Amino acid sequence: MSTRDLRQNRKLRALEEALEQATAIKDTVGAVSSGVSGVREEVRELGRVVHVLMTLLAEKGLLDVEEIRRRLAQEATSPTKPVEAAPHPVTCVHCGNKVMSNTMVKVGADRWCQTCTTNL
Ligand SMILES: [Zn+2]
Repeated sequence: MSTRDLRQNRKLRALEEALEQATAIKDTVGAVSSGVSGVREEVRELGRVVHVLMTLLAEKGLLDVEEIRRRLAQEATSPTKPVEAAPHPVTCVHCGNKVMSNTMVKVGADRWCQTCTTNL
């Protein structure tokens, strides 16, 4: 095989590799695009649910739509940080004693008092 043939073979292999990479990228872009379409539809559905809920609650006089609009506009310009609930008395699901929420320990899906978690 001549030097020219070797060079052409190397170029051919490089082109084949580039084609494989381009195909892989195209497949990835297709999958991402499909995922984005799904999320877009879910967001639209959530928007419809929120709209129906707001309409129903406003019709029953249970919602101040203008206040919500004002707060949404405010949130868009200066988002507020989520507020943690202040400590409050809660009942331990294990022993039934009332203790402050900030002293509870999460055990699976339940919240136990420290005494119960210590005596496990
Ligand atoms: Zn307890």
